[in-house]
Amino acid sequence: MLHLDLDAFFAAVEQRDKPSLRGKPVVVGGVGGRGVVSTASYEARRYGVRSAMSTREARSRCPHAAFLSGRFHAYREASRAVMGLLRSVSPLVEPLSLDEAFVDLQQADLPDLEVATVTAFAEELRGRVTEATRGLTASVGVGTSKFIAKVASDLDKPDGLVVVPPGTEQDLLRPMHVTVLPGVGPATAERLRRAGIHTVAELEQVDLDELVRLVGKAHGGGLFQLARALDDRPVVPEREAKSVSVEGTYDTDLTDRKLMEGLLTRQAGEVAARLRKSGLSGRTVSIKVRLHDFTTLSRSSTLGSPTDAAGTIARLARSLLTDLDTSGGVRLLGVGVSGLADWVQEDLFGDTAEEEPELPEIEIPHHSRRTWAPGMDVEHDELGRGWVWGSGRGVVTVRFETATSPAGPVRSYAEDDPALRPWTPEPAPEDE
Ligand SMILES: [Mg+2]
Repeated sequence: MLHLDLDAFFAAVEQRDKPSLRGKPVVVGGVGGRGVVSTASYEARRYGVRSAMSTREARSRCPHAAFLSGRFHAYREASRAVMGLLRSVSPLVEPLSLDEAFVDLQQADLPDLEVATVTAFAEELRGRVTEATRGLTASVGVGTSKFIAKVASDLDKPDGLVVVPPGTEQDLLRPMHVTVLPGVGPATAERLRRAGIHTVAELEQVDLDELVRLVGKAHGGGLFQLARALDDRPVVPEREAKSVSVEGTYDTDLTDRKLMEGLLTRQAGEVAARLRKSGLSGRTVSIKVRLHDFTTLSRSSTLGSPTDAAGTIARLARSLLTDLDTSGGVRLLGVGVSGLADWVQEDLFGDTAEEEPELPEIEIPHHSRRTWAPGMDVEHDELGRGWVWGSGRGVVTVRFETATSPAGPVRSYAEDDPALRPWTPEPAPEDE
């Protein structure tokens, strides 16, 4: 198995397309008062800026960084190039997000799967990713399972390759903290810590009955296996083929919780209707939330028995939302039901408190506002393409440069200058 992960993806795309930011600290995320960091470049990480940190804290740690809101079209374009390349080397590719995927190397055209062979192949693949994305770097891990490949890709970031030879998996894992195991989030780690278990080596000493007592029947068995580096999950190229989902995107960032809960409730009703129409039911209810900064979060919760009931799906969907910080605004909401639960992404002990909120009247606000978000692409009648360096007090400042130009000049304009407009690429035919 091979796991590929692009390095500091959003920030790296910005540095590629904005020559004046290369080698400098760049933070992509919510730039407003309650915004959250989505990705920090490695230069910004040196100052302690991390994903999921508040932008306010990031600004205090690294005030001279460029703080940019995201450009989803550019990220999607780079992601497509990478996924297309991976699919050309193996039919079994499982994307985990825009910048991350598993590849089954047994299905790639390799003469054998010896360490030397896969090392040379992976090194060449990394070079081809850089070529296909016009300069982005990827870190790659290779191992005998998805789990080991994913652990390995993280060991020599950025721009690294780690191949874990068969038979050495347990030596690698034993000194690591239990949170390296998929499904072990903060709450599970805390339960284990209270039982004196910190490392994988310590977890390995716990027998199955004791583990079931500690973390429950459903997950004890899985953890028992993972603690021994046992993971036989296959690469699933088309995920959730048997799921039913409904989602909506919104012109204006939603910030009202009641409104979001109302939308989720309505979507749950649509999902339930479709399930019943096709005679299906599912145990896993998930929500998808895309934040103002394009971070896409999903949360899921699995029931003891399958359901097709609108009320049950809605209640779970709303409770999943309560765990998320949506204060910066939401662009997309979705609800889905599936029967598949092959990759435990979430903490095993997510809270699913049940409460029945009042159903609000649903009215999505529509108001056009011309925002000059920092980092966005613009075009000027005379100076051509550039990006918004900053704006405020009726003035927008633009740096005129593109990926293929040298670092360019900076000019300021009135916010409503008719010669200046947002620039977006022609949508690719397969979009949306
Ligand atoms: Mg990445």
